[in-house]
Amino acid sequence: MKLQLLSVVVLASLFLFPSVSARFFPNITSIPPWVSNITGAWDGFHKFAGCHSGQKVDGLSKLKKYFGRFGYIPDVSNFTDDYDDSLEAAIKTYQQNFNLNVTGELDSQTLQQLMRPRCGNADIVNGTSTMNSGKPSSFHTTAHFHTTAHYSFFPGQPSWPASNRDLTYAFYENLTDDEKSVFQRAFDRWAAVTTLTFTPASSFATADIKIGFFSGDHGDGESFDGVLGTLAHAFAPTAGLFHLDAAENWVVSGDISTSTVSTAVDLESVAVHEIGHLLGLGHSSVAGSIMYPTISAGTRRTELTNDDIQGIQKLYGSNPNYNGTPTVSAQESDTSQNSAAHNGGGSRWPFLVLLAAGFGFLYL
Ligand SMILES: [Zn+2]
Ligand SMILES: [Zn+2]
Repeated sequence: MKLQLLSVVVLASLFLFPSVSARFFPNITSIPPWVSNITGAWDGFHKFAGCHSGQKVDGLSKLKKYFGRFGYIPDVSNFTDDYDDSLEAAIKTYQQNFNLNVTGELDSQTLQQLMRPRCGNADIVNGTSTMNSGKPSSFHTTAHFHTTAHYSFFPGQPSWPASNRDLTYAFYENLTDDEKSVFQRAFDRWAAVTTLTFTPASSFATADIKIGFFSGDHGDGESFDGVLGTLAHAFAPTAGLFHLDAAENWVVSGDISTSTVSTAVDLESVAVHEIGHLLGLGHSSVAGSIMYPTISAGTRRTELTNDDIQGIQKLYGSNPNYNGTPTVSAQESDTSQNSAAHNGGGSRWPFLVLLAAGFGFLYL
């Protein structure tokens, strides 16, 4: 049934929601200066700084919708402007997932994190958190926190079957060779550590993975939102659907970190992340890992970390040529941040974790 439904989505996408020409820039010097003046989709969250439980704040319903979209508020039917218990609980869970102090308040660090552009895939799927907040309590209390894996899978752990590990991909629209090569490089990063291979498909219809750029509503219920906000999303195996927001200022090559354009997004960084989803990985709480949900504009993050590699090798095994030394290991700064955040979580933190473990995450 699920596959049939997805087939319908693919067909509907092709005919009712054709992919559109994306805004590509070959490098950062080709971006016109006026692009910097565009505001991001979630910039308006700034005004919620200092709001607290019990208040009614104009526009807070938008923040609740945000949390609903990413799985933090299960009841999506009651998005009011009230800073109520459901919003406070959502903020706490979010803070756990993103290694922030668990306060339930919209402090500046939390708001900054909320406004960062991110992947459109949810962090909590069907009530089950794939990130910190869904891990067992021992996960958090270990003295060697940073050595424990954070990687996650989709519910049910779907993966490509052993009979189909040589995957093919195709694009909805015509891309230049340079643009296509970004995706091949991104695929190659995953191929280097697993038994998977990725090659361009001989025909679009038979491709395992279909990649396209879309604007707004494009038929799968996950609308894109213009500049920044959500950048892309991808479906679990074996759907093979990889959608990118055509409204972004996609930079194809060069050192994006030197760009002064606040909305420039590195295409390869986003591609490496979304391919992780296409292969079966969920989001990780390890800041700096490929499967971390947010990426700031003007950032390049393309190297798989230990966490990403351990996760993908659990699904597909190791590439015989992989020598076991990723070029990027878990960042020390991230791990110390993790420890500090968890210590700073206060006495309620173990309680929440035990509650989650013991009662099937009902508090979510
Ligand atoms: Zn994602
Ligand atoms: Zn989509």
